[in-house]
Amino acid sequence: MTELPLLTWLLVVAALVVGILAGHFGWGKRWPTSLKQLHPDYLTGLDYLVTEQPDRALDMFLKLMDANADTIETHFALGALYRRRGEVERAIRIHQNLLARASLAPEHREQALLALAQDYLRAGLLDRAEGLFQQVSEVPRLRASALDALRLVYERQHDWQQALGCYRQLARIKAAPPPMVAAHYLCELAGLAIERGDTAEARRLLREAREASVPFPRAALLRAQIAERDAQPELAVRLMRHALTESPVLLQDELPRLLNLVQPESRDAVLTELVAQAEARDFSELKRLVFAAIAADLVEAAPLRGSIEKVLSQDATLQSVWQAGPAQYERTAHEIGALLAHADKFRCNECGFSGRAFYWQCPACHAWDSVEAYALVKLN
Ligand SMILES: [Zn+2]
Repeated sequence: MTELPLLTWLLVVAALVVGILAGHFGWGKRWPTSLKQLHPDYLTGLDYLVTEQPDRALDMFLKLMDANADTIETHFALGALYRRRGEVERAIRIHQNLLARASLAPEHREQALLALAQDYLRAGLLDRAEGLFQQVSEVPRLRASALDALRLVYERQHDWQQALGCYRQLARIKAAPPPMVAAHYLCELAGLAIERGDTAEARRLLREAREASVPFPRAALLRAQIAERDAQPELAVRLMRHALTESPVLLQDELPRLLNLVQPESRDAVLTELVAQAEARDFSELKRLVFAAIAADLVEAAPLRGSIEKVLSQDATLQSVWQAGPAQYERTAHEIGALLAHADKFRCNECGFSGRAFYWQCPACHAWDSVEAYALVKLN
């Protein structure tokens, strides 16, 4: 309650005032000219809000709203606000309270079931959410919302086959998210097929992923894994180069694997090409390559030296370390490598979550393809 933005509560209070006035007096009737005409319990409820006793306030408002059937939209508005704020138990109480009404109209009952299912999803009660969303998905006007939420339930459960099933049902009613999402489900399934050694099935799924979304670097990386297993290193290198060109964020994790696949005598040629490619784009891409190279202990590789010097001398944060020792290139580069080893390497563009591991789907906000290469170096 303490961190509640004033504006949010003003909105809640405004919604309640409108709902309760409409309920008490009817839209067509004269509205009261002063607060004195309001139900005294309503003012008590406001008092609880002001004195930061949210549960007592909620009890009071629920009691008031029970008194008439015209305040249903206010219930939904208040429930949605609580859920958005993460106060899921209160949202659940509101929606269960609505569902307990014998007189609730069928369309409101369906809407309340959908809202309650969303509360369960937010609370992580996935089994309960799944059952309710399945039930609501039978209602034509709520089908798209319920199926899309059901898709999210299956994502959380890592049930990729079911998630893909929901995606396809959504596509049939033209309500599907971007094709990239389906391609990720197919890649998840392909990854599982690779793990159990079923490369034929994995290749079929990856073909389907590439057909769903082009370009799709994740599919190329998984296909490279299969090529590597099948002792086709040249094909694996080609596929990895393709994936890294499409998605340079992958360099951080994949550069060592790429270099393991190339013949030792070809390593410098590959690095030279990667440098040229990054230089042709922009400084941030060169920085990604340099950080990946330092993390992979490549500071002594001749094709990278010029780029490493360039990035370390121009980067706003690392300049101070670099100025201390450009004459001792290797020692300074290794010191920076030690700093980078403890730094977060990836950050989600959507929610700001950061960590050392790369994810195709952000573990915090569940957005796909939202993680960017990032190095937060803390200098003492
Ligand atoms: Zn996120």
